[in-house]
Amino acid sequence: MPTRDHLVSRERRKLLDERNRIHGALERLREALKVEVDVDLEEGDPDLIEREKNVALVAQLEHKLEGVEAALRAIEKGKYGTCERCGKEIAPERLEVRPDAILCVQCQVEVEKLIKRGLLARAVEERQ
Ligand SMILES: [Zn+2]
Repeated sequence: MPTRDHLVSRERRKLLDERNRIHGALERLREALKVEVDVDLEEGDPDLIEREKNVALVAQLEHKLEGVEAALRAIEKGKYGTCERCGKEIAPERLEVRPDAILCVQCQVEVEKLIKRGLLARAVEERQ
């Protein structure tokens, strides 16, 4: 059984690798997006489709990066592996699969249910 410290330092390395990988991918994508595309608005233009795909990918990667950064911050604060919602320990098996998990499985399920119902989005909006 690896100790918790071992687990955390291993996850930290994984997260740092992941962050580098995402930064690299984002840089490449943003570079690709800088190239001007001939916009003749023709339906099904392969360049345009490629561009839209890249834009979606950037958004996806940025979202993932946020998760990785949040997990790294949690490690710095010594809170890694603790559920942000209920404060219980997140199962090591879950962290193995999702090193950037900040919620335990149970809270994740509940939060996803709330998101689906649009309750969380509204709650967040109201707070802003
Ligand atoms: Zn929880």
